[in-house]
Amino acid sequence: MKLQEVITRKDFEDYEKEFKYYTKNILNIKNGKEFFEVFRSTLDFKEDFEHFFYKNFAKNTVVEEHYLFKETSHAVWELLLGLPRVFGSTYLGFNDYYMNEDFPHYYKTYYKEAYDKIYGYFDSKRKSAYNLVGRLIREAFDLIYRLVDSLETEVEEHEQVEEINFQGAQVFVYKEENPKDRNKIEQSIRDFFEGLGLSISDLKAFNLQYTLKTFNIVYSASDISLDMGGQYTQRGTTPSIYLPRVTSKSIEAIKHIILHEIGHHIFGHFLPKDSKEAWKTLINSNYFSYTDEIKEEIRTTVWSLHKKGDYKDIFDYYVKKVGDDNKFKKEEMYKEMCIVHTMKFVDKNSLTYKVLDSAKNNRNYIPEIVPMYTNSYETQVDQDKRVEVMLNFFLESVQELATRYGKMLKTSISMYSGKDAEEAFCETFAHVIGNTWKKYNVAEEVVEFFLDIIKQV
Ligand SMILES: [Zn+2]
Repeated sequence: MKLQEVITRKDFEDYEKEFKYYTKNILNIKNGKEFFEVFRSTLDFKEDFEHFFYKNFAKNTVVEEHYLFKETSHAVWELLLGLPRVFGSTYLGFNDYYMNEDFPHYYKTYYKEAYDKIYGYFDSKRKSAYNLVGRLIREAFDLIYRLVDSLETEVEEHEQVEEINFQGAQVFVYKEENPKDRNKIEQSIRDFFEGLGLSISDLKAFNLQYTLKTFNIVYSASDISLDMGGQYTQRGTTPSIYLPRVTSKSIEAIKHIILHEIGHHIFGHFLPKDSKEAWKTLINSNYFSYTDEIKEEIRTTVWSLHKKGDYKDIFDYYVKKVGDDNKFKKEEMYKEMCIVHTMKFVDKNSLTYKVLDSAKNNRNYIPEIVPMYTNSYETQVDQDKRVEVMLNFFLESVQELATRYGKMLKTSISMYSGKDAEEAFCETFAHVIGNTWKKYNVAEEVVEFFLDIIKQV
């Protein structure tokens, strides 16, 4: 099964869904305030997708040199320009002079009258804005899927395979005969073996290295690194784990992926039936829903801390620590500091706490709980508006994460573990065997239970 830290067709499908969600907002906006809020969050989302498409997806030469890339990139660009454009001056029918003179700059502040007026223009063109964005989404994503699908089928050609026995594990390395960038490929193979070496010594510490003998580990070092997670397959007579090229991952992340996939093998072949059932019972009794009450408690807590000025203090401390220039580059740190502070004001045994804890551990996938205090001239009213927008965005994103797999786990393992008991096992396996469970806050009761059943393997 694939981990979430990869680029797949599914990621594009998720983005497409999100684009449609923003398009729907165009129909739902009811006044100037909402116009402003939707516009702001649309810009953030647009930037996020732009980064994803051009920096993450198009970073390798095979994608960039693909015959469909130019056309696709053009359609994506049209979409990225078109979506915010429907909120803009030209589209809404005023000239730039009028906009500059009479209206505050969109990005910085919210003024009720000005935006109510703009909303009036927007309302009269709403339907055509909706249709325009819908068409741009269709055009861009049709091409994206054609490109992604054709990349996925081209991978198999012109490959050579090397069979290696690595510390008792049967490893197959596939690589292209004439890679575009030989150095990168060689480096990725070295990283893979380093990660595999670490996984094997972790398994040895638990006397589990013998489990490696019965299956294959396949590493595909091709120019294409579309899908960077692992996969466990039962195809053919020999079970295998399959790992596509793992560039730009830390060795620890590579180790985690390898151990996660070995976890599938152990779950499927070595775990006694009783232990498997006990594990499933533990996991299945731990799901809960992300309710409105939980959201309300987060909302109330965040607002009271914002009013007290706590987040502003955190922000000032953070800017002092990372320096003004790095303010946005290290925003992960700011996100974590704000969530950790919020958690201090929530009952440790409550579900709300678990939700915040999951959000903290999955902060790559969600926005900050409160925005950065970017503008020192900003009024209290403006700050409040931004907090409101960001907080809603945060709560919705958690919803998205929580419901991606339909449910959340009371006991923290990782958000991905919500998918099912087997994935929860593999995540726990990778964190406990790989000794990263403390760092990732895996709940102690889960670890203890896991240690108990892994003894029976
Ligand atoms: Zn999996």
